[in-house]
Amino acid sequence: MSESDPPRIRVYLNDPAARGERLVSIPPPADTEKGPWGFRVSGRAPVPRAYEPDTAEFLWWQLTASLDRGRRLWSRLRPKPGAWIPGPVLPAVPSAGKDLNAYYDREALRFFRDVDDATGEVVQSGDSPDVVTHEQGHAILDALRPDLWDAPHFEVAAFHEAFGDLAAIAVALAEPALTARVDEETHGDASHSNLVSRLAEELGGAVRDRYGPEAASAGALRDAVNAFRYADPKTLPDSAPDSRLSAEPHSFCRVMTGACWDALVTLFRARGDADRAAALSAAAADLAELAVSAAETAPSGADFFGRVARRIVREAASGPAASSAPALARAFYDRRLIASPEVPPELSPDEDDTVPAPRPDEPPPDPLVRGIEARLGPELPGDVVSIALPSAASPPRVLRGRRRRDLFLHGPEYGPADGAAVEIADAIAMDFGDGGFLRASRVHRAGAPDEEDARAFVRFLARLDRIADAGDAEPDSRSFAKAGKTHAVVRGPDGIRRVRRVWIARRRAE
Ligand SMILES: [Zn+2]
Repeated sequence: MSESDPPRIRVYLNDPAARGERLVSIPPPADTEKGPWGFRVSGRAPVPRAYEPDTAEFLWWQLTASLDRGRRLWSRLRPKPGAWIPGPVLPAVPSAGKDLNAYYDREALRFFRDVDDATGEVVQSGDSPDVVTHEQGHAILDALRPDLWDAPHFEVAAFHEAFGDLAAIAVALAEPALTARVDEETHGDASHSNLVSRLAEELGGAVRDRYGPEAASAGALRDAVNAFRYADPKTLPDSAPDSRLSAEPHSFCRVMTGACWDALVTLFRARGDADRAAALSAAAADLAELAVSAAETAPSGADFFGRVARRIVREAASGPAASSAPALARAFYDRRLIASPEVPPELSPDEDDTVPAPRPDEPPPDPLVRGIEARLGPELPGDVVSIALPSAASPPRVLRGRRRRDLFLHGPEYGPADGAAVEIADAIAMDFGDGGFLRASRVHRAGAPDEEDARAFVRFLARLDRIADAGDAEPDSRSFAKAGKTHAVVRGPDGIRRVRRVWIARRRAE
């Protein structure tokens, strides 16, 4: 290389311990704070060059390169909002301490460094593109659906994990070098386990070496190619060996991730392109669009997996992948995520957020706020959160929102949450015609099954000792993470103590 050649860095594209993984040489990412989904890795940028793995300089560029791949994918999929809950630029901390972990806590992405007990090798979670783009996926979902963060439901917590894994898979399959290797490893049959379906190989190995062979899948932390079928998480054990399903979000998420991999294979097979690697990449992009659209609109609640699955199928049926919709329905049915192998003709009335035409007896159109009040009652609009204003340029102009309600918990079985509240949400969709007048509306009210699910979820957290009592203090994710607490009871300005999510982990907390 001559002096005048532009500088290059070396990075992993998949995971340091993935089969056949080797370092590749790429130009250093630039302008990563600009545009949608910008980020900043803390510390000074080392001079770009080919550093040795397990050094701080290598980690800085590896983390930057992984986040930049995610930034480019998400900027294509969802250029808006393009800003994170923590602000316009997402901070990422390459080495936040010693642990086999990584997490997102609404302030930053944090990665950790430790040693594999069996091999003695350094494990930096920020070195794995799988781990990094999974955490970035949590932050993306939080930006698109902030109401899911605190939602006290097994399936919502597990969906956050599935979304992280699907984000990692989507970023990986946007990389031609990786789709070619998947095609090679699976001999053209993407339903077989492969280097992309296996997630966080290196971290998974270290977790197994520390916590035993039942703590993670052989060869990875999780594998999207799996055979888990849906069962009501309230009927599952709190924790279970890796080979079995439990209610724990990192275990239960595998049903949704596995079903979405099946959907990916379905879309891939339907394509028939001569270039199989390109077809896999295109199928992954199609699935990502379907899954994100479903995640954006499915009402929060006990049956969140089913709501997402039905939306993916319905969304496919009305788009360019319409001919694949019956096979997608079959895939989700086989996972027991939907009740019939047919494409749902429409969503059930209580969760349909397509807005019906006005009835003859409907009141005349109202301006926005009066319209909301008329439909939802006098306690609004002060309690409405997360209203997504429709863009005038993209009809139909449907406004979606959510209303939070406190559900109080009483009894020693709730641990520190005894006497505190969780928030459950009603979902609202309103259709505005020309001139900003409300034409029609629909409300999905959380019902008794959602309330029971919320209570069961907090009892589950209490049994696993995951709830801290923060009192009047702002929860500090770092001390809670050290103590294994994922939730905290926090007193709000209105004096009510509520259960809040503090951080979302990469690995299964022990
Ligand atoms: Zn996670």
